[in-house]
Amino acid sequence: MSANHAVRRRTVAVPLTRALVTVLAAVGAVVGGIGAPSAQAGPVGSRLPDPTPWATLPVPGPATVRSGGTSGPSVGVLRRPAGDPAWLAQASDPASVLVVVNKRRPLSPESYVPADLDGSSGVLLRADASEAFERLAAAAEAAGVPVRARSGYRSYQDQVVTWQRWQRTLGDVVAESQSARPGYSEHQTGLALDVLPRDGACQDFGCFGDTPQAAWLAENAAQFGFVVRYQEGQEAVTGYTAEPWHLRYVGPSAAAALAASGAHSIEDYLGLPPAPTY
Ligand SMILES: [Zn+2]
Repeated sequence: MSANHAVRRRTVAVPLTRALVTVLAAVGAVVGGIGAPSAQAGPVGSRLPDPTPWATLPVPGPATVRSGGTSGPSVGVLRRPAGDPAWLAQASDPASVLVVVNKRRPLSPESYVPADLDGSSGVLLRADASEAFERLAAAAEAAGVPVRARSGYRSYQDQVVTWQRWQRTLGDVVAESQSARPGYSEHQTGLALDVLPRDGACQDFGCFGDTPQAAWLAENAAQFGFVVRYQEGQEAVTGYTAEPWHLRYVGPSAAAALAASGAHSIEDYLGLPPAPTY
């Protein structure tokens, strides 16, 4: 429920932010662009009345209009909210569908086990994620790109085994870019799953990126509340090489807002620090 509220607030806030940026840009006061030097040391923002609700900063009148932007009175610096505040408020709660897990954000407690695991999709997932995946799978089948769940919830102990297997197979360095250490895996939340084509020649992750299923998921997963979590070119942020098969459930509203934002990771969308390493 709160995720929906968060997104509704965001969809209102984003156009308002843009409108303010447009107005202020017209008078030479875009974000970070105020050149008026101050006698006091410190960042520009420190001269503002603080805290200033970003959405209520006064829009300057004609007297402050200037063309050069290097002199004249300051009209203020827009302070964008850091990500979606309502999502961030739940990002550390392992029982929330909005929990954020990465190499800098282990599950807490480390032994967390979801209370509502459900096996009806073929793998164990939390009930909301399981129902959503069944809807996604039906839509994928109707679109001619049927998928199946290959791996869902993994307990801490399951991840110990998985991690050790990757280490043995790939060595420490490569394993770090492709598998999470125990306590740091999204699979332990019960909200993540790996998918493969239901049939056809490609039945492993190595070829999945070239399948029509991968393209369909990239385009459509958000409608069902899933994020393709580890996207191409995001290793410096997510800590993992591209995994077009790894879906993370966050709910339809949050997934749609993230997709609409143009962000390629949950970290970027929320303004969280990159997590390339532990
Ligand atoms: Zn996965």
